[in-house]
Amino acid sequence: MTKNKLTERLDKGPVICAEGFLFEIERRGYMSSGEFVPMVSLDHPEVLENLHREFQHAGSDIVEAFTYNGHREKMRVIGKEELLEPLNRSALKIAKKVALDTPKGSKPNLMAGNISNSNIWKHNDKESQKVVEGIFTEMVGWAVDEGADMLIGETFYYAEEAFKALEVMKKTGLPTVLTISPMGENKMRDGKSVVDTCKELEQRGADVVGLNCFRGPATMFPFLKEIREAVKCHVGALPIPYRTSEDYPTFFNLPDRSNCECPSPHGRTFPTALDPHFCNRYEIGKFAKDAYALGINYLGVCCGANAMLIREVAESIGLKVPASKYRENMENHFMYGKNKRIPKHMTEYGDKA
Ligand SMILES: [Zn+2]
Repeated sequence: MTKNKLTERLDKGPVICAEGFLFEIERRGYMSSGEFVPMVSLDHPEVLENLHREFQHAGSDIVEAFTYNGHREKMRVIGKEELLEPLNRSALKIAKKVALDTPKGSKPNLMAGNISNSNIWKHNDKESQKVVEGIFTEMVGWAVDEGADMLIGETFYYAEEAFKALEVMKKTGLPTVLTISPMGENKMRDGKSVVDTCKELEQRGADVVGLNCFRGPATMFPFLKEIREAVKCHVGALPIPYRTSEDYPTFFNLPDRSNCECPSPHGRTFPTALDPHFCNRYEIGKFAKDAYALGINYLGVCCGANAMLIREVAESIGLKVPASKYRENMENHFMYGKNKRIPKHMTEYGDKA
């Protein structure tokens, strides 16, 4: 029997997976917001490689190939279907390169192939579902070709689409992670409950089930508690770092609450004006710590993630990562530090600053 490289690690302790490439690459100026196609693997491979390295430095154990939205339908939308396979292979090769080049002292990384919500899946529509199956099959095939150690299916808001993704992924024999993303109705779009969907994913053989994206810590955590109690397999938790609430469970409809005088021209904070809702690092650290205490070993951050938050996740559960070398040290701050060399006229001025 071949060993499951992922569950072997999860059985022993936490595994960190950085996600959120889409927002971060967009913020860096290498992707069009709204359109959100990961052309970066072809146009600026060095930028993508560097982001993977930053996440790795911050403690990510998994290098997830950035193929999110890099699927046939999206490439059709932007009229670049001929670049579909090159885009996928390039993203996978970059991820593999970084995964094989783990910093000294860190555990070897796993490279993950990735499929996700197609946005054309339609409930009870065999036609669209067949197209989606084809999308998943070709992407998973390229991931296997390029040496993926595991597969991640994520951000599914239809239960049946998640089941289909898992079915395609399972055929490879690779370890599988399947995380779902219920929208504001707090259930899957085809009506199934969040917990029942996770239970069924476990029954269908996923190694890790759980939630990613759309929800911040406040509206993801209650579901995680229920999921952890309902399944025996490993659970994954990858929130967005934004302050969602009971009234606004996802980032799609978060209103700006800080009297912004320059609202986004498209009438909502998502996806380009979410900044005032951003969680600080301590909130993300607390979330990770609380989730880990529940017995959730697969942890990360989704859209909005950056290296600072990934390090926070790792350190909050007691891990030391390469970026820990540069962790917070207020002791030596010029005004708020306690270091004896900081002059008194500066430390005394701190409250007026
Ligand atoms: Zn996300």
